[in-house]
Amino acid sequence: MNCPNCGNPMEDGILETESLVSGVKWRKEVTYLSRIGIGGERIYESNMWGIVHIKAERCPNCRLIIHKY
Ligand SMILES: [Zn+2]
Repeated sequence: MNCPNCGNPMEDGILETESLVSGVKWRKEVTYLSRIGIGGERIYESNMWGIVHIKAERCPNCRLIIHKY
């Protein structure tokens, strides 16, 4: 895939984060309850060590990461 911003080839990789309990969620905004992890739409669960791995492509020139779930 080429970067939609600059047109250069994007590199494949893994976006990694730690989230022991909730995994990765999607929200439209930060609320009081979201600060303590309540609510949101779960996109990915974490593994048994609390790590989430997400396949993605990035353009380091534009600092753009694209990921499809
Ligand atoms: Zn780019």
